[in-house]
Formats: sequence, C-alpha cells, structure tokens
Amino acid sequence: MKEKITPHLKRLIDEGSKALSLQFHSVGKNPTVENTEKVVEYAFANLDPLGEESQYSPVKGITHKFRNRALFKVSYRCAAHCQFCTRARQIGDTSGDLSPEEIETALSYIRDHPEINDIILSGGDPLYTPHITLGLLPELAKIKSVKVIRIGTRLPIHSPKSFETTPLKNLLRMTCRISLKKPLYVLINISHFDELTKDVRDVIRRIRKNCTAVFSQTVFLKGINDDVEVMGHLLNELYHMGVIPYYLYRCDYVKGIERYVCSFEKERMIVSEIRRRLSGIAVPEYIIDVSGKGKIPIPLDFWGKVDFSHCRDYDGKLARL
Ligand code: SF4
Repeated sequence: MKEKITPHLKRLIDEGSKALSLQFHSVGKNPTVENTEKVVEYAFANLDPLGEESQYSPVKGITHKFRNRALFKVSYRCAAHCQFCTRARQIGDTSGDLSPEEIETALSYIRDHPEINDIILSGGDPLYTPHITLGLLPELAKIKSVKVIRIGTRLPIHSPKSFETTPLKNLLRMTCRISLKKPLYVLINISHFDELTKDVRDVIRRIRKNCTAVFSQTVFLKGINDDVEVMGHLLNELYHMGVIPYYLYRCDYVKGIERYVCSFEKERMIVSEIRRRLSGIAVPEYIIDVSGKGKIPIPLDFWGKVDFSHCRDYDGKLARL
C-alpha cells in the first residue's frame, strides 16, 4: 500500500516511536522487520479474504454479511495508511467516495431491508471525509428500523488537530444530537500506547461527550504489540480513559501484510495473562475473522486441550483459522 503519514504521526516517528514507524512505514523503511512471507503457514493468496466485495456487497458502499447489521463504506480514504490494513486492496482509491446518488441507493437498500438494525460506518475513515458523512448520518438516523449506529475511525490517532476544523466540529455536534435519540457508538482503532498522546486523549474525551460510548479495537501486530506488558499497558490505559476495549483481532490473512501476523500461541498466552491481571472490562474479546462467516472468539489458556486446526463459522460451516 502506498505510504501516507500525517504530520502528527511523522512527529511521533521522528521523536523515536518504533511502534508507529512499523505501522505506517513500508517494510523497506523498517529493515529490522523480519519479512515472514515465506515462513508463515497460512496461504495469503487473497486480497479480500472476508469476501466484502466479492460476496456480500449488494450495492456500492454496503457490505451485508450478517442478517441484522451492515457495513456502510463511506469512502476508501483515510488520513494515513496503516500498512497492516485489511482493506489494503482499496485504501487511498478515490473511486470509493460515495456520490449523493450512491448514498441514496445505499440508504434505499437499508430502508428495503428492515431486518438491518445496526449500521457500522466504515471505509476508509468516515471522519476523514466529513462532507460525505455529514450528509449521510441524519438520513440514516431517520430510518426507523435502524436502531444503532456505529462509527469506526482512526482519525483521532492519525490527526487529532483535524477535530479543530469546522466540519469535524459540526460532525461531533451531529453525533451528539443523534445519540440523544438512538445509540451512536464510536469505535477507535488503537494499536499501541505511543498513540495516546495528550492531544489524542483530549480528542477522545471530546468524542466521549458527543456520543453514547467509545470503544476501542486493536489488531495484534508482530513486533508492535505482541507483548504482555505492551498490550496490557494499552488496554488498562484505555479502560482508565473511559474507553471500553471491545475487540482484539488476530491480524487478517491478507496478501501483502504477512509480516504483521503474530504467533497464534503467543497471542493466546498474552491475552490469557492479561485476563489474569486486568479488570474484566479492560479485556477485549480476542477474536479471529474467519474466511467463512463470523468473528470467532478464541479460547484462552484456561481450558484443556483444544483443537485449533479449524472452527465452525456462524453458518456452522468448517472454517480454517
Ligand atoms: S484507518 Fe482503518 S481503514 Fe484506514 S488504513 Fe487504517 S486500518 Fe485501514
């Protein structure tokens, strides 16, 4: 994926954050990173292993995989490019920007499917293109069958200064108004404690005041956060900030991001140890997005022998881990 780094991230990298350099610089600029492409046991043949476009996209912008919820991809653009991104295949491509007509088609699909009551605005980063999200959010909120709105973002981490601009201020006012009528959750993708600078914490505090609740999502990333102390520190700090750690993902098996995939056993050991050390609310659900259908919880070390060679997806079909 093409590199894209905000001045905020560049400053942190220049000040010595290896965790950020590894996330945002390509492998060529991180020569100490071992390229595991040849040794990992999984087949990284696919750019879209979760079938978002190939199987589950009925209209542009919508991924409808699970009956009651849908992903609404506002654009494919983000303020910075996380090199481990599951959607590396499309991030940065302006063809993903939804036009007013495409937004209307996507909204019609949601209106026509009243079984969908939970919408996740995603992308790209829906807060990076506030002009699109500002037009879309109130229309979404008006749909009676939509009971919950979630917004997935990394903009507070990429560019806290953006929240001083008028469009983002307007957007936060809007999320505040909507959250008084129906739950509106903000999900922030955070990888490492280095990301929680003072200005980032201030922005997260403002977001907390303008929505129903803030959750975090974290991906296990080799050499960045696959360590008990590092991951435990991040999760505990988020908990103390009033952010609820929601999901801890095993890195998706996407072609081109092999170097970020951690040892499965090590991950399980880390989460098990964190479960012993931290308050329950500070411990996210450790999951894998399987090639079939579903985010499957991974058992921790507290149980006897478990066969990890495969699992059953949400449809009961065998899925490989
Ligand atoms: S912000 Fe999210 S969608 Fe954008 S590059 Fe990072 S992980 Fe991917």
